Amino acid sequence: MTDISTKTLSLQEVRELAKSVLVAAGMDDPGSDMIAEIVVKSERDGPRSHGLRMLPVYAQSFTSGYANPAAHPTFERIAPGVLRGDADNGYYQIAAAAARDELIAMARENGIAAFTCANSHHLGALRFDTEPLAEAGLVALAVVNSLSMVVPQGGVRPVFGTNPMSFACPRDGMEPIVWDQASSTVALMDIRMAAAEGHDLPRPAGLAPDGEPSADPNAILETRSLLPFGEHKGAAIAFLIEVMGAALAGGTLSVDNAEREAHGALNVKGGATLIAMDPTRFGNAGFNDYVTRICAEIDGNGTARIPGDGRLKNRAASQDGGVSVSTELLSQLQDLR
Ligand code: NDP
Repeated sequence: MTDISTKTLSLQEVRELAKSVLVAAGMDDPGSDMIAEIVVKSERDGPRSHGLRMLPVYAQSFTSGYANPAAHPTFERIAPGVLRGDADNGYYQIAAAAARDELIAMARENGIAAFTCANSHHLGALRFDTEPLAEAGLVALAVVNSLSMVVPQGGVRPVFGTNPMSFACPRDGMEPIVWDQASSTVALMDIRMAAAEGHDLPRPAGLAPDGEPSADPNAILETRSLLPFGEHKGAAIAFLIEVMGAALAGGTLSVDNAEREAHGALNVKGGATLIAMDPTRFGNAGFNDYVTRICAEIDGNGTARIPGDGRLKNRAASQDGGVSVSTELLSQLQDLR
């Protein structure tokens, strides 16, 4: 592994750096505040691969003309439980934030409600899409499709995006449970990060040019063919996300994400669906006790831990001590402000 020189930044310094890069790339004030906050949350809680390291990609998406830096999303309530959004070719998170209050109200009224969003870009971690709903007392499930990069089990050609999903639910007396995961064995940004840091991945995560599974990040970046997690089971989840993300929302299918080529863009456009459920409307008054019981069975069970709780540990550490950022990345970002 290559030795990396780093500098510690406070979360406020991360926020200011992110904001200045986004504004320099042409993003408007409210949008840049929102995306800067997502960068801060990623650096604070993890995954750091979706924090500051994503800023050059955000900036390029605006300067190339691929994404709209001043998007005005629009919404249509097309069924009692379905709110359909058009992100105006901007970032999904901006549309989702604008839709959140209505989605929460719809879920409380109907028991379950969905927000779908097309004409949108999504570069971040999905956990920040579901967490606010769980903080409002709801159970949430989010999916987004992306750019074809994941091969179906046994396939030789990518069909699915790294298609992440996130789940969140309230937990009595504590922060909500929130997890999110890509459909690939490893997220693309982690492969890029391993290549930049000069080390192999912990296990084979994609195909090398000879068609064999490989842990070498450079070989995988050459084929852009990642393996699904859990073999055919992960490929089936990626399929589900392609349907619930792209097909339900009317977003671009991962295999059709070619528009970006014209802009030389590094990010992707897909479709997203966010489902919110109000547990108080499902008829089990003991919902919270069930969640507590499931968690109790995991706590102290060997080395097992509640999925997603790693973020709470990271959060506490970075709020106290800031985050360490590679000086090479910092100098790249200084050039973009
Ligand atoms: P990881 O495999 O690193 O983690 C998956 C989930 O498992 C996290 O919630 C993590 O939370 C949790 N976890 C990790 N280790 C354990 C453990 N030992 N026990 C219990 N839970 C554990 O994530 P991925 O590499 O799959 O994805 C990385 C990120 O990339 C995600 O945030 C995803 O949303 C994002 N992504 C975004 C895409 C996009 O198009 N926008 C595309 C693909 C990925 P924690 O460690 O905090 O506990």
